[in-house]
Amino acid sequence: MDFPCAKCGLCCRMIRSVPELAEYDNGNGVCRYLENNICSIYESRPKICNVSEMYNARYASSMAEREFVEVNLRSCEEIAVMFGDESAIQNIRRTVNQAFVVSKNATYSGESKNSP
Ligand code: SF4
Ligand code: SF4
Repeated sequence: MDFPCAKCGLCCRMIRSVPELAEYDNGNGVCRYLENNICSIYESRPKICNVSEMYNARYASSMAEREFVEVNLRSCEEIAVMFGDESAIQNIRRTVNQAFVVSKNATYSGESKNSP
């Protein structure tokens, strides 16, 4: 599933603790490729920034993708709370609700179709 990113840009403002992004830090913990809250190298962003790639590379054998997405979204919300960014908190919660309502409906439709 596509990761339902709310595009708050906050995770790209705290990369100091991410060893894989050491070269991306422009000195204050903010990624040098973050422009107007958008990743300017999105299509070629490093694997650590790509939820789907990280899932496939490291977690696919130990958890379902939906669970991995939920874990990541909880982190997004925690980051927004840490920054005290109320607007980001609300956007993330809204995005999560939309994503999982769509996902739940899709699952439900599938089950119905296969029901005897
Ligand atoms: S913190 Fe989460 S919602 Fe915000 S930009 Fe990063 S991945 Fe997207
Ligand atoms: S490369 Fe892109 S997604 Fe990764 S931290 Fe930098 S701006 Fe964010």
